[in-house]
Amino acid sequence: NKTSSSNFIKSIVSDDLKSGKVNEVITRFPPEPNGYLHIGHAKSICLNFELADEFGGKTNLRFDDTNPLKEDTEYVDSIQKDVQWLGFEWDDLRFASDYFGEMYDRARKLIEKGLAYVCDLNAEQIRETRGTLTQPGTASPYRDRSVEENLDLFSRMRSGEFKDGEKVLRAKIDMASPNINLRDPVLYRISHAHHHRTGDAWCIYPMYDFAHPLGDAIEGISHSICTLEFEDHRPLYDWVIEEAEMSATPKQYEFARLNVTNTVMSKRKLKQLVDENVVDGWDDPRMPTISGLRRKGYTAKALRSFCREIGVSRASSIVDERMLEHFIREDLKLKANRTMAVLRPLKVVITNYPEGEVEWLEAENNSENEELGSRKIPFSREIYIEQDDFMENPPSKYFRLFPGNEVRLKHAYFIVCQEVIKDDQGNVIELRCTYDPKTKSGSGFTERKVKGTIHWVEASQAQAVEFRLYEPLITDEAEEEGKPFLECINPNSLEVLSGFVEPNMAGAKGNEKFQFFRHGYFNVDPHLEAEGHLVFNRIVSLKSSFNP
Ligand code: ATP
Ligand code: MG
Ligand code: MG
Repeated sequence: NKTSSSNFIKSIVSDDLKSGKVNEVITRFPPEPNGYLHIGHAKSICLNFELADEFGGKTNLRFDDTNPLKEDTEYVDSIQKDVQWLGFEWDDLRFASDYFGEMYDRARKLIEKGLAYVCDLNAEQIRETRGTLTQPGTASPYRDRSVEENLDLFSRMRSGEFKDGEKVLRAKIDMASPNINLRDPVLYRISHAHHHRTGDAWCIYPMYDFAHPLGDAIEGISHSICTLEFEDHRPLYDWVIEEAEMSATPKQYEFARLNVTNTVMSKRKLKQLVDENVVDGWDDPRMPTISGLRRKGYTAKALRSFCREIGVSRASSIVDERMLEHFIREDLKLKANRTMAVLRPLKVVITNYPEGEVEWLEAENNSENEELGSRKIPFSREIYIEQDDFMENPPSKYFRLFPGNEVRLKHAYFIVCQEVIKDDQGNVIELRCTYDPKTKSGSGFTERKVKGTIHWVEASQAQAVEFRLYEPLITDEAEEEGKPFLECINPNSLEVLSGFVEPNMAGAKGNEKFQFFRHGYFNVDPHLEAEGHLVFNRIVSLKSSFNP
């Protein structure tokens, strides 16, 4: 059972339970509602929920909504949907903004203890006086304000007396600390912005480094798991919990974030792709978002298996996107019906087949899974095959259709190409073939063998549909050269084709998945299906070029 594969965080949790350091495992997934979740978040979701689950604990979904300018209920809703779709149920649904009152009180407590002060330096001045790795910072001229003055200024900040950026509340820790995060970090800033939940109740907002440990402590989180870039913030995390005198003492643990080749994985960049119409929304199938992957056709199971396989460690790495593809193939292999679709149609007329006649052939739905049964497909004098399954002047080793050659039509008969019809420009527009009735599929015919089997769709009943084929959104080369990512967009990331599928697929529903013979796995686009258009998104081709 892969769920219980071990990782370093599990060992810590297990030890903490054994030693009695914690009685119950409580984790949280704390997204900021400033964008849609991506596959990196899926790693964090799986980690937090599966960890608690394994030890009989709980997991909260907590929105880190402390930055009203960037946040929106659209994101809050999409995040809940994505977590549920992945198959996880949170215990409590919380918002950091639920705690604004308590956070304000804790900040006052720090002021009373002489551990926080109101500072009039602006953001740039604070940055300039913070020092460097080798140089200590310089103390703010406001650092020694009295407790009374600080309490008064802080309450006036809260009541809206000052403009954005005019004042901040800073922790009073150590301007010479080797850890720059401890050089009087900002705890509160002024922002006269409308908050999507608290409206205009507040015009000061806590910073992440203050809000996060307090939120964790308020909820009694036992293990607060975040990505490695917060490692240097851990001393501040512990400082806030201790000095704010929280009764619970959660501990922070860091793991390496997930990076995947040929894509970008930061909400800021993903939002740019959406805002600049490079893609058609957060759930465009080319996006590494959970909603984009879902629309492309990924299943929750495939994403969870992927997250398990990549594991959890403190070593950063870039995962090849083809690994993600492996897991969707695995999931769909025995589940999806294997049907025929012609993406780039070429008409074939079978001249010795009776005109006006249609016969119905039996076709198994999945050659590796009998349980999926079979279906009937029509066959007649006119069919479509794939344009590149014919070559007028083929190279040697080409076993598909060419003048005089015989091939097998999957589920049907052998045909021989007798004549090639071209338009005025010399393009092949139709083939004339003959079939051999003795060679019917399933009849046990063994007199001759053919080397090529091709797929086809009967023409009169074929369902006209659109296919969308995808390539990575970001090109390889460009990434290596370190160019800005918007200049590295792959111009061929989407190819749209008009072709045909079997008539039985006319009523396919959104998110129904198929394996098209020789083409790979496809998903019925749910949005376009709802609008009455049958569009098949290619999830992944059949074979991978990936060698792990
Ligand atoms: P981004 O930079 O993509 O916006 P973020 O860390 O700012 O990511 P949050 O909404 O704060 O986004 O993330 C919620 C949780 O998901 C955090 O605990 C964060 O550590 C985790 N997370 C975000 N990106 C990744 C990733 N690529 N791999 C693993 N975990 C991630
Ligand atoms: Mg964040
Ligand atoms: Mg971010």
